[in-house]
Amino acid sequence: MTNLRKISQIIEPQFAMEGAGVLLRRSIAPRPTNEFDPFLLFDHFAFNDPLEGPIRGFPMHPHRGIETVTYILEGSVNHRDSLGNSGLIGPGDVQWMTSGRGILHEEMPRRGPSGVIYGFQLWVNLPAKFKMSQPRYREVSAATIPTYEKDGLKIRVVAGTVDGMTGPVTEIAASPLYLDVQLAPDKEWTQPIESGHTALAYVFEGEGVFAGETVESVKLVRFADGDHITVKTENNPVRFMLISGAPIKEPIVPYGPFVMNTVAEIQQALVDLRDGTFVK
Ligand code: FE
Repeated sequence: MTNLRKISQIIEPQFAMEGAGVLLRRSIAPRPTNEFDPFLLFDHFAFNDPLEGPIRGFPMHPHRGIETVTYILEGSVNHRDSLGNSGLIGPGDVQWMTSGRGILHEEMPRRGPSGVIYGFQLWVNLPAKFKMSQPRYREVSAATIPTYEKDGLKIRVVAGTVDGMTGPVTEIAASPLYLDVQLAPDKEWTQPIESGHTALAYVFEGEGVFAGETVESVKLVRFADGDHITVKTENNPVRFMLISGAPIKEPIVPYGPFVMNTVAEIQQALVDLRDGTFVK
């Protein structure tokens, strides 16, 4: 590892209203420019103030051509879909959903015992050859996600490998790294990230020094190319999601919950929805 990845961009998440009135922090959203390839969207949902009123969710909606990765830290999300799957994504759980050619699903957040709901949703693009594949779910329970602990460092390894420890989510087209990283004050950590891969850090608690630059929560850091990242802490701890993956390098046409490669494919998705042939 000789080529340190510097910070190329620091993104301030913007508040966005989604679903049936869910307020969330959005850092990236699908755009035709596809500048975060293979990643399309990163949302942080947090409900922690009773004044926010009743919790709304995401009633039945379609997806095609993407993967959605839901990671819950507190509270839960009730999930139900057109294929007959249903379940609860609870604290520490991950749901990695490959929509493939199409699913219709409902995602309804529920407060945990402390009254809080807190989690993330990441959208990952699918290569053209998998966009019309069979939908697939991986329900990853908290207990099956290994935790790497060493000298002030605590990492939940969802996907990818940390110092020989590999997460349970494998066989994903973008060969992603998806880590929940906590670093105590006055510590340092280095992680290899394959050259050419897109790399992001969503800093959601505390502050850390990434490649020599201090980043306070809440921010999305985008790294320039290189073969490793470093993070250092001073007086405060830091917690962030580390996200990386291989770019797919194909044109995309995003349209709401669909991300396809051409306008004709988007039109087809709308026709399939209208004709009731979206889900097979
Ligand atoms: Fe959804």
